Amino acid sequence: MANVSVKDVEKIYPNGFHAIKGANLEIEPGEFIVLVGPSGCGKSTLLRTIAGLEEASSGEISIGDRVVNDIDPADRNIAMVFQNYALYPHMTVYKNMAYGLKNRKLPNDQIDTQVQKAALMLGLSEHLDRKPSQLSGGQRQRVAMGRAIVRSPDLFLFDEPLSNLDAKLRSQMRIEIRKLQRELGVTSIYVTHDQVEAMTMADRIVVLNGGKIEQIGTPAEIYNSP
Ligand code: ADP
Ligand code: ADP
Repeated sequence: MANVSVKDVEKIYPNGFHAIKGANLEIEPGEFIVLVGPSGCGKSTLLRTIAGLEEASSGEISIGDRVVNDIDPADRNIAMVFQNYALYPHMTVYKNMAYGLKNRKLPNDQIDTQVQKAALMLGLSEHLDRKPSQLSGGQRQRVAMGRAIVRSPDLFLFDEPLSNLDAKLRSQMRIEIRKLQRELGVTSIYVTHDQVEAMTMADRIVVLNGGKIEQIGTPAEIYNSP
């Protein structure tokens, strides 16, 4: 479990657009943070900057006791889950889940243990030899989750992971994601524009507007505030 610290972060894109303005945020180890706000307010930019996929123009982001930009990208133990799953269509479920571990040159028996364990947690054990095209939307999202958790990440980043699913599956997956996250104890940042997701999933909600953090609080604090 790692804490995350965002200090005085500014992000100005090369075209001059000021996407993140003076962001400060301290995330506790194991905490589940939901980042909400209207489209274009900078949610993805902040998430990508925390992941080190975008460089902050100024300020500092650290995970545990290490500054993100000082960590070699290959050693950044950060897992991201997207709405479009980003699965490899030609690979089986097993290979999709094992891919990141293969890249790390882990021995095959260790890879197998990790993949089987994640598959069991996600109810995918029977589907390991299928291709993504042979799965339902919810199963594909579980494979994306599986690929993330096999790496035992220090940090989980979710970018609108449920927005392609129907309402029933969304509510089921909200519960599954939180259950899994609690079991694993992984510090998580979850981006959504869905207030129900924010209210039901968050330990704390961060409200972003026009690139600025406007409010930070528990769901009760945010939604019951006058
Ligand atoms: P959100 O995730 O809240 O919808 P984004 O972080 O994707 O918002 O975008 C925030 C703002 O930054 C938007 O106005 C968007 O157009 C702008 N933006 C995003 N990426 C770039 C980029 N590479 N160059 C310039 N502007 C960008
Ligand atoms: P590659 O073509 O990359 O060598 P393989 O098809 O040989 O990939 O599979 C890589 C490893 O994953 C092998 O050790 C294989 O036994 C294992 N593997 C593949 N699919 C499954 C599965 N459904 N259950 C258990 N192990 C699997």
